Amino acid sequence: MTKNKSPRRFRQSAISLCLLPFFAWQNVTSAQDGAIKLPELGTVASSSLTIEKEIRIGKAYKMMMRSRLPIVNDPLLEQYINDVGLTLVANANDVKTPFEFFMVENKAINAFAFFGGHVGIHTGLFLLADNESELASVLGHEITHVTQRHLARSIEAREKTSPATMAALLGSIALVMAGAGDAGIAGIQTSLALSQQLAINYTRSNEREADRIGIALTAKSKFDPASASVFFGKMAAQHRYSSKMPAMLQSHPVTELRIAETRVRAQSYSPVAISPNLSFLLAKARIMVRFNDTTDDVINHSLKMSFNNNESTHQMAYDYGKALMAFKLKQYDVALNLIQHLRRTEPDNLFFIDTLSDIYLGLKKPQLAIKLLKHYTSYMANNSVIALNYSSALLEANQYSKAITVLERFLNTHPHNIPAWSMLIDANRKAGKPIERNIAKAEHFALYGNFEQALKELYKAHNQIKNDQITQVKVQARIKQLRQQEEDLKNLKI
Ligand SMILES: [Zn+2]
Repeated sequence: MTKNKSPRRFRQSAISLCLLPFFAWQNVTSAQDGAIKLPELGTVASSSLTIEKEIRIGKAYKMMMRSRLPIVNDPLLEQYINDVGLTLVANANDVKTPFEFFMVENKAINAFAFFGGHVGIHTGLFLLADNESELASVLGHEITHVTQRHLARSIEAREKTSPATMAALLGSIALVMAGAGDAGIAGIQTSLALSQQLAINYTRSNEREADRIGIALTAKSKFDPASASVFFGKMAAQHRYSSKMPAMLQSHPVTELRIAETRVRAQSYSPVAISPNLSFLLAKARIMVRFNDTTDDVINHSLKMSFNNNESTHQMAYDYGKALMAFKLKQYDVALNLIQHLRRTEPDNLFFIDTLSDIYLGLKKPQLAIKLLKHYTSYMANNSVIALNYSSALLEANQYSKAITVLERFLNTHPHNIPAWSMLIDANRKAGKPIERNIAKAEHFALYGNFEQALKELYKAHNQIKNDQITQVKVQARIKQLRQQEEDLKNLKI
């Protein structure tokens, strides 16, 4: 898979250095604040924020984030971050919600957790990590904020002193959803107020708890518990070099005390020697080359500096990075040599299969990509790396109906996969199937919370259907569902 661009991109150059900031990525002007008119939601009862509501709120925010943030829609990175995150979740206590991990392309060193088990990390934070345990220590901390319900508690605590703010906070979700209009959620300036309202600070004791339980969790999950203090130390050092103190850091500093405390905590666990993890290094190389807004010279230099020891895993990550660079520069023969060499050691590594498939498509040899991927579809058809690459190879080879079959089957189990919907829209267009194309477009819009456009597409589809009762009934049912979903979001309150 080559890079799939998100519809909106935000750049943040300052280092927003903290583990916990919640929606800290945008600056809000008071003019935008003034434009918002909030619905009356009444007083919020402190016991009324149930897990079920948390999950619903989480879903609404995820929609909003899809349209507002450059979420990394990359199957390999998505899979990797979820592998690490879910390993930790499997060892955590008090897990009440499903968990989902995602990356945001942003240089600022940041990670955040929000309702319903959604944990996001910036690519900048990933690049600061030197090994998987450091990454795991951040994820463990964020997971703990969720399992300990720190956000819900913080909201409930704040509600006691400022009920209007909290009503507004939840009300603005409804407002955003209700007024999405043509441009979708992203079109609403007023919703920027959300980021301010949501800049909820966890208390010091919440932070301590997240550090303490998070470290225990990383140790239990067989990562190195000493990594947390190392990573905090690196974050603090980054901050020392930055000229501007981010607001979030003022209230939640990575202090010497915090670093020392995490170091002492880690000492209560037996030391572990963990060899470098190849997947971590490959994911890092991939971010460096594909999700890093900088010059080729800087990328080449970073690859050299990051994978500079004699470990074979480091050598492999370096070669993989070089292969991605060669591919980017359309030097397909160079890229092919490097990947074929890497596959001699790890023939089934998905990072290498993905790039090999890209190279075949670059060389205008989609049949070779199809042959490569077909082998893997026999036992991992539902793997996103395989399914998405296979579909894109089929599309290149003009095998539209086959691509449609593969995508539809994949979407049955991965209904939130944005690149798959985009490809299905394209496949239906090329296959001359306007009704199916409208239906796929509707689903794509719905994932961004743009119900108005989604419904328009479904009506268009509905108007074109002739003598196909099954599709007609299906479209009618979906229209009803989306209307209901839109209504539910409008009424979402705590
Ligand atoms: Zn925190």
